Amino acid sequence: MSHPQANPRSEPIPQFDLSDQYAAVGAEIRTAIDRVLSSQQFVLGREGAAFEEEIAVLCGVAHGVGVASGTEALILALRACGVQAGDEVLLPTYTFVATGSAVSALGAKPVFVDIRPETYNLDPVELERRVTSRTRAIIAVHLYGLAADMDPILAFAKSRKLPLIEDCAQAIGALYKGRRAGSFGDAACFSFYPTKNLGAYGDAGMIVSNSAELAAHLGTLRNHGQTTMYRSSEPGWNSRLDEIQAAVLRVKLRHLAEWQGTRRSHAAEYTRLLRQVPGVMPPHEPEGLEHVYHQYTIRTEQRDALQRHLAARRIGTTVYYPYPLHLQPLYAQLGHRAGAFPHAERAAQEVLSLPMYPELRKDQIAHVVEAIAEFLKC
Ligand SMILES: *Cc1c(COP(=O)(O)O)cnc(C)c1O
Repeated sequence: MSHPQANPRSEPIPQFDLSDQYAAVGAEIRTAIDRVLSSQQFVLGREGAAFEEEIAVLCGVAHGVGVASGTEALILALRACGVQAGDEVLLPTYTFVATGSAVSALGAKPVFVDIRPETYNLDPVELERRVTSRTRAIIAVHLYGLAADMDPILAFAKSRKLPLIEDCAQAIGALYKGRRAGSFGDAACFSFYPTKNLGAYGDAGMIVSNSAELAAHLGTLRNHGQTTMYRSSEPGWNSRLDEIQAAVLRVKLRHLAEWQGTRRSHAAEYTRLLRQVPGVMPPHEPEGLEHVYHQYTIRTEQRDALQRHLAARRIGTTVYYPYPLHLQPLYAQLGHRAGAFPHAERAAQEVLSLPMYPELRKDQIAHVVEAIAEFLKC
């Protein structure tokens, strides 16, 4: 017969869960949504403008332009930086597919770059090998919440006079040598997809830039290229951020620093416990960088078996990402073969993202690590 106290940890531990966050901030959010409903202003109003300002301040950048999603932010930023059909854009092969499909959406060609195995971010040395006379821009992705190595990437972009776009979808608030992710590039793109560290209740995105000219251009591109009412001087489209999403995000932004602190303390606890477990590599936080742990991602050669073992114990995990972009069916016509980007390919076989969200408890973290240790010992 089972003792009621014998297995207090049998509750499932999801990889990600927003329900406790909603319980904590729901009342504030409903008040904010009510404010928008009473105003009856749903598009390009006060909430959106205030949120643009707040994100720009957070990043230490002059301007913010709210848009419909992170993917739209990338497409608009590439377009505003002059990328056209037939141009080449350098980007890491190890990222969410949106980084590549934004390039493809403009008819441009993604040119992939391998990653550094310990940070999962693009290897600046590889840029030199892949650049051609047709290269028109570079996208640096800050994967899992860790900034890419911006000093050499910026130096390369400057020396080649190429615009640099940061994909900050997973890294809002991350620091690189005291500066925020998003403050390095000509433009930086954010996603507020519900599961991101700052998540809307639907889709939303933003572009930040220090260039007043670029920000003004983005402001017209997201709204049909209109420079004044009903007067367009170039083709744009509709990619506006709505007021309800902006209001939700402004409430959550007030809690973001606290949530990031909790994520970092969970990561420190995982890493402390995992150091006793041979055969797993915890994430690496290089000196001078501050990771915001959108994901806490470990590596092990027995990844698939470990994932099954944890699932049997009702511990949720996710593989971000099982296919590097160069091996996606989407890019089959580019003709890349397995082996072309070895670090990305090996990461795709070995990574596993563990449960990570601010409301996770320390005893749950200990339980996850015990289950990992149990698997790796046998
Ligand atoms: C989420 C994400 C995007 C796309 O953002 P959406 O808001 O879902 O369009 C782009 N790049 C990366 C790295 C992402 O994680």
